[in-house]
Amino acid sequence: MIQMKRKGLIVVVSGFSGTGKGTLMKALVAKYGNYALSVSATTRSPRPGEENGREYFFISDTEFEKMIAEDGLIEHAGYCKHYYGTPKKYVEEQIEQGKDVILEIEIQGALQIKEKFPEALLLFVMPPSVAELEKRLKGRGTETDEVIHERMLRAKAESEGIEKYDYIVINDQLDECVEQMNSIIDAAHYTPFRNRLFIEDIRGQLKQLS
Ligand code: ADP
Ligand code: 5GP
Repeated sequence: MIQMKRKGLIVVVSGFSGTGKGTLMKALVAKYGNYALSVSATTRSPRPGEENGREYFFISDTEFEKMIAEDGLIEHAGYCKHYYGTPKKYVEEQIEQGKDVILEIEIQGALQIKEKFPEALLLFVMPPSVAELEKRLKGRGTETDEVIHERMLRAKAESEGIEKYDYIVINDQLDECVEQMNSIIDAAHYTPFRNRLFIEDIRGQLKQLS
């Protein structure tokens, strides 16, 4: 049987702070073998339990600006007074090896990725309700009331951009949402515009027919 060569996809996952993106991504990577999780650089401080190099590379403003200047980031953005960005090297390496690389980033970065890599898949994770979102953000217990308020206001602005994404998924039951995401990503591999080389190859063979 002829197989299409399965190249790695860039999968962007966005959603309001506290929706459960981090929790979902860890579960997705643990359950299925074909994903690599990109680790971003940020200038914000680590939360309790976060480790440098695991959740983020926690760096200074100067270090971040140096990475921008050296073209070491494929996208970056400001979010609630801090810089966040995706290191280029890891993403390129993993895609080359056929892995689907997940970028858990906010909307400004997501749109930069779509511009640079039109074949990237953009997913937006929705909470079941705003009350549940606030409950999760508070329940996480890692931010002050002021920061929580700032992030809820940010969600209001971010909600205006949801239609720019390819799919939404609702994080109600975690396991169901993980399976849904995996199915959507799998299906994206079979869209014609992500398989141009294979289609051209078949066309080339057909042209040989008299
Ligand atoms: P994000 O990365 O989107 O900011 P987190 O992954 O940190 O969000 O999740 C925020 C909080 O919500 C955490 O306390 C997490 O345990 C909880 N959470 C995540 N997914 C669910 C879910 N499906 N149902 C209930 N609580 C959830
Ligand atoms: P947090 O501080 O809650 O970890 O992240 C805040 C926001 O920054 C989230 O919406 C998260 O998805 C986003 N984010 C994390 N890493 C990156 C990144 O590398 N680039 C961009 N543009 N956003 C990021």
